[in-house]
Amino acid sequence: MATVAEHEFVIERGEDVWVYDSGGRRYLDGTAGLWYANAGHGRAEIADAAAAQLRKLAGYSIFGDFSNEPARALAERIAGLAPVPDAKVFLTTGGGEAIDSAVKIARRYHLAQGEPERVHVISRAQAYHGTNGIGTGVAGIEANRAGFGEMLPAASRVQYDSVEALREEILRVGPERVAAFLFEPVIGAGGVLPPPEGYIEGVVEVCHEFGVLAIADAVICGFGRLGSWFGVERWGVEPDLITFAKGVTSGYLPLGGVVVHGRVAEPFFSRPGNVFRHGPTYSGHPACCAAGLANIDVLERDGLVGRGRELEGELANVLRPLAAHPLVAEVRAGVGLLGAVELTAETRDRLPSALADLQLLARRQGVLVRPLGAALAVSPPLTVQAEQLRQIGEAFAEGLDELKLKVESTVD
Ligand code: PMP
Repeated sequence: MATVAEHEFVIERGEDVWVYDSGGRRYLDGTAGLWYANAGHGRAEIADAAAAQLRKLAGYSIFGDFSNEPARALAERIAGLAPVPDAKVFLTTGGGEAIDSAVKIARRYHLAQGEPERVHVISRAQAYHGTNGIGTGVAGIEANRAGFGEMLPAASRVQYDSVEALREEILRVGPERVAAFLFEPVIGAGGVLPPPEGYIEGVVEVCHEFGVLAIADAVICGFGRLGSWFGVERWGVEPDLITFAKGVTSGYLPLGGVVVHGRVAEPFFSRPGNVFRHGPTYSGHPACCAAGLANIDVLERDGLVGRGRELEGELANVLRPLAAHPLVAEVRAGVGLLGAVELTAETRDRLPSALADLQLLARRQGVLVRPLGAALAVSPPLTVQAEQLRQIGEAFAEGLDELKLKVESTVD
């Protein structure tokens, strides 16, 4: 929630991997905002495309038979990039709305198939799927679900790294009652948790075995973060639905959506009575779609989509040595341009502000990183250079040494 803090850190301007605060100081954006500035900041062509569209037609709905050119073009472009056959695209305002839309599509698909009992949704421990009703109800980060009452009664979670756990849960609930399984290819907000080998292939296979729709949440992992358009391509799987947001516009304007496999979309088009009664006001917003199209142009033209994979080894090389530091419990990196440095429980016990302190120490070195659970996360723009990754590593190393002094000065 936005609150007025006494000392707010006001970001004023952005250019490529850099952002500037209101005092004019420059920082390396080690997190690409909230995992979204994939094309980097300050791209005039994206701003110009959005501005031109705002002047021509800022907003108009795509309900009924209405449409607009940017929405049509973006949906077609995304469908063409998606790793599923005959894809259809449902556009939303962001990732959380995409999650709610995907689960509602899944339930309506099963209803149309004569399986109205299939409403249960399985997600993973540590999963983050946004702040809307369904996304909150399936949250795997317990604290994000607590205190809101039962948002989605027909939901359960499985441990995040076991294919067998998913199979057992489907059998426990009853396959005839399970609508969908939601998974982030690499868990993001839950702490940057890459999947164990064989996991993604395994869970998609289990879903298909039991007629459960596999929903890949590529809100973070898409648009180059893992080196491909939707993140899942590297495992060669074909999910039934894929949610996206963030990198689709690199955050220049809010936009998200759902890629729907042709087989799952079919009943919505072929059966006149099967209307999908679900339409966010800003679905297909022309200016947001124009920003998305211009952003995809930039990602393609500058060869940025593959960068997540090209740079993952370098990021891992930079972060892994930090694991030897006495305050560090674990370093996670190696799948995409995503990393996390987790502090030991002892450090966090002795100094409860340790993560925020380390964030500030890195900031003082001119590098922005972000606390996530017990770790600090790294996910820079895809334009980042190897030397800038090293700068992130150095900021961590120096910050950790300073933090160690602070921890040692705490009284036992
Ligand atoms: N899914 C995932 C994996 C996310 O990381 C997020 C946002 N961090 C969302 C969904 C929700 O997206 P939004 O905040 O745009 O609603």
